[in-house]
Amino acid sequence: MLKIYNTLTGRKEPFIPMEENSVKMYVCGMTTYSDAHIGHARTYVAFDIIRRYLEYKGYDVFYVQNITDIDDKIIKAANEAGIDALEYSAYYAKRCLEDMEKLGVKPADLYPKASEHIDDMIEMVKKLIEKKFAYVADGDVYFSVEKFREYGKLSNQKLEEIKAGARIKPGEKKRKPEDFALWKAAKPGEPSWKSPWGSGRPGWHIECSVMSSKYLGIPFDIHGGGADLIFPHHENEIAQAEAAYGRRFVNYWLHSGMLKVAGEKMSKSIGNIINLRDALKRWDAEVLRFFFASYHYRSPADFSEDAMKNAENSLKRIRMAREKLEEFAKNEKIDYSVLDEREKKYAEAIERLRVEFEKAMDDDFNTPKAIEVIFDFVKETNKFLMEKKNPNAGLCHHALETLLEVANVLTLLQDRKELKEELIIEVGKKYGADGKPIEIIEKLIEIRKKAREEKNYELADSIRDDLKKAGIELEDMGKETKWRIT
Ligand code: ZN
Repeated sequence: MLKIYNTLTGRKEPFIPMEENSVKMYVCGMTTYSDAHIGHARTYVAFDIIRRYLEYKGYDVFYVQNITDIDDKIIKAANEAGIDALEYSAYYAKRCLEDMEKLGVKPADLYPKASEHIDDMIEMVKKLIEKKFAYVADGDVYFSVEKFREYGKLSNQKLEEIKAGARIKPGEKKRKPEDFALWKAAKPGEPSWKSPWGSGRPGWHIECSVMSSKYLGIPFDIHGGGADLIFPHHENEIAQAEAAYGRRFVNYWLHSGMLKVAGEKMSKSIGNIINLRDALKRWDAEVLRFFFASYHYRSPADFSEDAMKNAENSLKRIRMAREKLEEFAKNEKIDYSVLDEREKKYAEAIERLRVEFEKAMDDDFNTPKAIEVIFDFVKETNKFLMEKKNPNAGLCHHALETLLEVANVLTLLQDRKELKEELIIEVGKKYGADGKPIEIIEKLIEIRKKAREEKNYELADSIRDDLKKAGIELEDMGKETKWRIT
């Protein structure tokens, strides 16, 4: 049974969704005033894996991720650039979604924008005022924190501690330092909407309470986000929604750990923020995803050149195992009665891969453990294919399918590399090998083999180097030479 660590209770709990076969899930999206950085990428890959595992387990997942397109940071950046704030945020929202697609994150089912749900937010604010959880102060509306008795339950803080850390900033008209804005009166140069309290705009926290409950109902199953959102954002979301509806807002609160860069917190002041766009120019998207998956989603991750090189090498080993299996695999029924002892032993390893993978993932999505399980299987596969010259094709197909299925949950083995056909044909011409690209490669391997037997190493090496330039790497294994796309 799947167990999930719930920030709200501080425990791993059995996962029981509201409806038997479906999961409703909301993850706080980006505030779109700049490009996504690799910290965002980490968060969304983490929740993508969680979503994929729920789907693997047979749940029908409905995944909503909002777009915060109205916010102080957006307005400030847009004004500095001399562009309309909504136009400015729409530009970055588009880029952020493009980048997530390039990263290979499965898109959410819905991306509601704050600016398109103003009426719903006004309704919730009205309800909170009626119920005396909120008050109007000169065009602003604030949530009165002390009215909500359970305030602090998510971040595990006492109201006294929260009060001690709170301040009233100049211009704020709230009664108590710990109160927070639900609605902000319009200031010159800011986007604004009409409301019963005069024109203005919603606060950041109210949009998530409104859009999540609107599309997922209340309570819904999973609410996620980066750990930096626990307080005050998610604490406030709970206060607003539970005060307005008088019942529990969310059943499971999940938070992903922070991403450091070379041991340091990513921040503007240190100047070590890495844009996802730049990272994707330098690294294969799948390598980046592997790097994220190699950490448990709640643990901090540490991004560095070395860590990425390690990720690249590790991923290569899994990809090679897949390619080796592909050579032998045929989609045919396995006749277990014809399998020999060695093949039966390998069939057990395939079974073990699935069982152990699920065991790891059922334990609060333990992806590092799941990757370990995959590596054990890669080792078994390499050994099996070394020992068995003509392995059962159906068995290899079953192994391949199982490997691809579990890897898919971790967002891995997705990027099929295409043959650079024209380049390969060019290389073929140079050495008198023709045919389809794969035939050319096979012929070139033969020519190279002969050259080596005749001690013509110059020719052998030049074939290898030319193929490498065409994206084909040769690997000599004893007398045989394997090839793979780089
Ligand atoms: Zn949110």
